[in-house]
Amino acid sequence: MNIAKVIVDVPASSINQTFDYQIPKQFQGVLQKGMRVIVPFGPRKIMGFVVEFTSQTELTKLKDILEVLDLTPVLTNELLELGRWLAEETLSLYITALQAMLPQVLKAHYQKELIRLTDEEMTNELENFFAGRDVIPYEEVDHSPVSYYQLQKAVQDGDIAVNYLVKSKITKKRVTMIKPLRSSHLLEETLLDLSTNAKKQHELITFFIENPAPIEKRTLIHKLQTSNATIKNLVDKHILENYSEEVYRNPFDDESIVQTTALELTEEQEQAIIPIKEKIVANEHDVFLVHGVTGSGKTEIYLQAIQDVIKKGQEAIVLVPEISLTPQMVKRFKGRFGSKVAVLHSALSSGEKYDEWRRIHRKEVQVVVGARSAIFAPFENLGIIIIDEEHENSYKQEDNPRYHARDVAIHRGKNHQCPVILGSATPALESYARAQKGVYRLAVLEKRTNSQAMPEVEIIDMRKELHAGNRTMFSRSLKERIEQCIQRQEQIVLLLNRRGYSTFVMCRDCGHVKECPHCDIALTFHKNSNQLKCHYCSYEEPMPTICPECSSDLIRYFGTGTQRVEEALTQLIPEANVIRMDVDTTRRKGAHEKLLNQFANREADILLGTQMIAKGLDFENVTLVGVLTADSMLHLPDFRSSEKTFQLLTQVSGRAGRHELPGEVIVQTYTPDHYSIELASEYDFTQFYKKEMAMRKTFKYPPYVFLALMTISHENQVKVIQTTQKITKMLLDHVSDETVVLGPTPSPLARIKNRYRYQCMIKYRNEPHIRTLIQNIIQNFSEETRKDDLFITVDMQPYQMM
Ligand code: ADP
Ligand code: ZN
Ligand code: ZN
Repeated sequence: MNIAKVIVDVPASSINQTFDYQIPKQFQGVLQKGMRVIVPFGPRKIMGFVVEFTSQTELTKLKDILEVLDLTPVLTNELLELGRWLAEETLSLYITALQAMLPQVLKAHYQKELIRLTDEEMTNELENFFAGRDVIPYEEVDHSPVSYYQLQKAVQDGDIAVNYLVKSKITKKRVTMIKPLRSSHLLEETLLDLSTNAKKQHELITFFIENPAPIEKRTLIHKLQTSNATIKNLVDKHILENYSEEVYRNPFDDESIVQTTALELTEEQEQAIIPIKEKIVANEHDVFLVHGVTGSGKTEIYLQAIQDVIKKGQEAIVLVPEISLTPQMVKRFKGRFGSKVAVLHSALSSGEKYDEWRRIHRKEVQVVVGARSAIFAPFENLGIIIIDEEHENSYKQEDNPRYHARDVAIHRGKNHQCPVILGSATPALESYARAQKGVYRLAVLEKRTNSQAMPEVEIIDMRKELHAGNRTMFSRSLKERIEQCIQRQEQIVLLLNRRGYSTFVMCRDCGHVKECPHCDIALTFHKNSNQLKCHYCSYEEPMPTICPECSSDLIRYFGTGTQRVEEALTQLIPEANVIRMDVDTTRRKGAHEKLLNQFANREADILLGTQMIAKGLDFENVTLVGVLTADSMLHLPDFRSSEKTFQLLTQVSGRAGRHELPGEVIVQTYTPDHYSIELASEYDFTQFYKKEMAMRKTFKYPPYVFLALMTISHENQVKVIQTTQKITKMLLDHVSDETVVLGPTPSPLARIKNRYRYQCMIKYRNEPHIRTLIQNIIQNFSEETRKDDLFITVDMQPYQMM
């Protein structure tokens, strides 16, 4: 088996296959599946993943593998298989699927170094190689007599480690550690020999007799109120030893975390967890949908299920939406499981992400809490996978590979024969339908753990406000409630539902809206620079003073940005202290957390923000939640807009009255009769589900059908339309009669960066060969996509119709 099959890092469909390479002598027996290698490819040297071995090839002359990048595989066998499945399922390239599973650092060719970890004598070759150094550049391996096999073994034994030199502001941190050089009973003898006036040394040795584990020098000095000199004295006498050790960059402050223990479960929680625990014990796969109102104790169920899994020596993956991955959330997991938890968050630097990944890879942790891509954590003995807020759209990746984390979770759950838990107060229609059909097991939590009722929701018709002469964006009722709330020294959360409702510029005389000349989308007004910007292509121009259509000077920005709401708010209620949270105020790292802390410390009365404040937050002093524009999402060209509106309203209502104080919610809208708004105000998920399912059935949308969206783009509009027409026809020629193919239609975003975009939508129930069909069609256009800059993208489970 001296031939490796390699998936090379060339993202092109013509190269979506393995290539055979000869394994040179020095790598034989060392190279394993899932390792990265450097291979010659045409005139270039490129990276690739070893996916298989063979002893036969059809080629007469094989090129050699040039370099082996890893000493231990970065992808397990399971992940290699998962990658293949993912590529087939999402119609993406195998290399793209494999890359998606790894931290950024491992995707590029970074410089590496070898670090000595052990103080023990190593083999002669290794000792000579390190020659007294603790760290050496990895390249030296090439010119040394040390074999890869030896290195690999030393890494496995934990004697040395490979480190990637990631350029980031936070560099690797090393600390000085102190440990005793003698065993406890020898230390006791040492103590007897010691002069009685050496009191400080006495204390130090006594400490190590009781605590023989290595300890950080700084901590030791602080703890024993001892000095550097005392320690040095004992080090010089070879009683203690100091050495430096790499510490992981830890972005979360662990010091403030209080250890928690399992709470006694309520009756509802108990009923929900029993079948889950049974599956854990039996090592069986199943999917559970935990439908529980906010505050009903879903997280406690997750924690206790994970506890069981850890006890069995297995591992757990917990997915939470990016924006709910707050320090509050992380604390709940670290509070229960301490250092067994790794956190994967997109706000981490690539070095920090790599550190966390490495802790998983080295089996130093048993729980990972993270956003979408944490589903690929390289655990080998998974005992449970949990997806909190399973309805969240952020679990769908909108870039190749276009996967949904829920599907990957279920696939891995089958691989590992372990349960998958989906939790939500407002499950996705697809999930709830599966639970209704008995595909998933349903558990319902109807009560909050503190027995508080869900807060009362009042709907305000903003049209009536206008007719009554109130032209502000705050209804009289909301204004009054805010004032009362501030008087009682309670706090308020105000949600500006901004999607599709940003600050566009409109002429009040003729209705002309300023659009991007390249993207057919309204430009956004930026007050600070007095510029209009396109959020898709970064085009910008100065804010006009007169309308380009009718020359009226009544051209104004319209709609409401958070900044503008803040201004209006402080004008209306001058005594209000406001914290604004939006993309602008949270761009800097740590800003998000800082603002939330300020609000938690009651430094402001009002937290005003976009979608990002709707989730996961838990402030005991919040008693009023206001939604300024409940319907702004309802009119988007998206069949899920009602569902999204219902989910958001339910979610944000759950922010009020989570503790002793009762809460109330005010929802302002121009369409008070819409069922998604009405039913959200009554917390009636079941009724909403029925109503929405009926709509989906009538208009043939998921979960009644599957969707596939093909988007075609090119600079020439005629060409795009023609190509889309051809594709539509090819599809129609091959699909069954009950399958619907819609197109060519201009995409809702009909032009981006000067490229025209058309789409065709396939709605199908039973098309076993749909993927092959689409792949063949794309293959048909491969000449044009390569030479003529034609783009064809496919989304097998579209969530964004744009
Ligand atoms: P959810 O995840 O469903 O929103 P949480 O798990 O956050 O609910 O629980 C809401 C609150 O109830 C938390 O403060 C949590 O500590 C508390 N809690 C959960 N389970 C119990 C229990 N069995 N007994 C007492 N308090 C509980
Ligand atoms: Zn005008
Ligand atoms: Zn643009």
